[in-house]
Amino acid sequence: MSDDLSRLTSSAYSQALEVIAAVEPRIAEATRQELADQRASLKLIASENYASPAVLMTMGTWFSDKYAEGTVGHRFYAGCQNVDTVESLAAEHARELFGAEYAYVQPHSGIDANLVAFWSILAHRVESPALERIGAKNVSELTEADWESLRKELGNQRLLGMSLDAGGHLTHGFRPNISGKMFHQQQYGTDPVTGLLDYDAVAAKAREFKPLVLVAGYSAYPRRVDFAKMREIADEVGATLMVDMAHFAGLVAGKVFTGDEDPVPHAHVVTTTTHKSLRGPRGGMVLATEEYAPSVDRGCPMVLGGPLSHVMAAKAVALAEARQDSFRTYAQKVADNAQSLAQGFLSRGANLVTGGTDNHLVLLDVSSFGLTGRQAESALLDAGVVTNRNSVPNDPNGAWYTSGVRLGTPALTTRGFGHDEFDRVAELIVDVLANTQPGTTKAGGPSKASYVLGDGVADKVKSASAEMLDKHPLYPGLELS
Ligand SMILES: *Cc1c(COP(=O)(O)O)cnc(C)c1O
Repeated sequence: MSDDLSRLTSSAYSQALEVIAAVEPRIAEATRQELADQRASLKLIASENYASPAVLMTMGTWFSDKYAEGTVGHRFYAGCQNVDTVESLAAEHARELFGAEYAYVQPHSGIDANLVAFWSILAHRVESPALERIGAKNVSELTEADWESLRKELGNQRLLGMSLDAGGHLTHGFRPNISGKMFHQQQYGTDPVTGLLDYDAVAAKAREFKPLVLVAGYSAYPRRVDFAKMREIADEVGATLMVDMAHFAGLVAGKVFTGDEDPVPHAHVVTTTTHKSLRGPRGGMVLATEEYAPSVDRGCPMVLGGPLSHVMAAKAVALAEARQDSFRTYAQKVADNAQSLAQGFLSRGANLVTGGTDNHLVLLDVSSFGLTGRQAESALLDAGVVTNRNSVPNDPNGAWYTSGVRLGTPALTTRGFGHDEFDRVAELIVDVLANTQPGTTKAGGPSKASYVLGDGVADKVKSASAEMLDKHPLYPGLELS
């Protein structure tokens, strides 16, 4: 930020906090404290980032007060001319940035975007042909008997997605999630030896299962995906290819993933969050081909109610930022830094799932330290290192305790961390884990949750981190009065 912008940002936030404090001082205080805490911690959560002050400020306006159900130029409420401006601009930036034929920017989150996508695919592939057969234009024309058979047909579809413990997301057909209930689902995993996606195995499963929807994309897979291959598999079995790029949208936007690794030219429907590597406001988005656009465009009323117009405005600002050359530099650094982090672990003898990374995250297998993911996550947090525990493929400790820790580079790269810092981060993490012992249960057996962190380790790591964090301040120049 330039000095002028820092000064403006500092006074804007200081004054905003005074306004808030006049009503509920504890919220103003918690907001100040959150900034202080984020500034003081080594944020390695792969799904988090730091949005710019422009993006954050855009969310705090009167657009929040406006109802705008419907689509641009076709609203169920009066007075939506400014929301129309906001939504059109956000969609235009998204189309241009990703080279997409169509963009829908209303979803409130990644999960919402996936629900919109699932129901759009069902509407396009199942409902519309059924209506045509019956000779109806609209579901309102159906008789009770027609409805009954349409419901059966809609509820009898198959989805094939990546399993949670291989790195997929719970919305990709995980049983307890609605995606695992609204579809008959099967999951593909990764190769048990290499940990890599095995496209032949995915193809074999698809041939046997014949899904309506093939979902690609992940939350915890440290490698790139060949979306051209996934599309070939989908085409062979007549499936719609849906790619959920929630985690790596920033790498697509920043042209680190191009050609076969760019999902947009290959998928029928692409969903994403806007707040992870893309560095925008919390929210979701759906990109689609012309063919799927009309059904995605009916996200409201199909799945959504009123859009969050203030967040759509912030999406437009963030997407405008992502179209600048500086975002490409950022995205490349995110990937380069993940290499540095991975090398930092490997050179110190730690185990990484798949043996490394070629995206923005690494999955550290902590079993060689004799720890569960839960113990590792907690011990690291004591030392000021914020991560999240994560299953590894075929995890012996299940989805709660886990055997892994997932680490990502997007947030600290935004702060300006580079190769040396990420190498040092790996060193500090290995130091914490090597000095952590599993605790014992009340009955005296080994605990999967409690742990004992060696004396002085937390303080040593905290002061080493503080040195790096001070060198790369979060929101440089932003000072609250
Ligand atoms: C984070 C994530 C989501 C969900 O996003 P929310 O905004 O938390 O609902 C969906 N899919 C994938 C692959 C994700 O990583």
